[in-house]
Amino acid sequence: MKYFVNENCIGCGLCTNVCPEVFAMSDAGVAVASGNDVPETQMESAKEAAHGCPVDAIEEC
Ligand code: SF4
Repeated sequence: MKYFVNENCIGCGLCTNVCPEVFAMSDAGVAVASGNDVPETQMESAKEAAHGCPVDAIEEC
């Protein structure tokens, strides 16, 4: 499974704290997903980050 950060991101930083292996902040101040398949070991924290996003900007793809 992969994740995608949509245009709703407000750059709060939650996802990058919860799952830094998958999410990072861009120079534009918004989050970006790694674009790779999420490793089994990171599935739980990636899901937690997606569910915790205050503006539902993290989508599965
Ligand atoms: Fe953006 Fe949501 Fe991540 Fe916050 S948790 S940085 S709003 S994608």
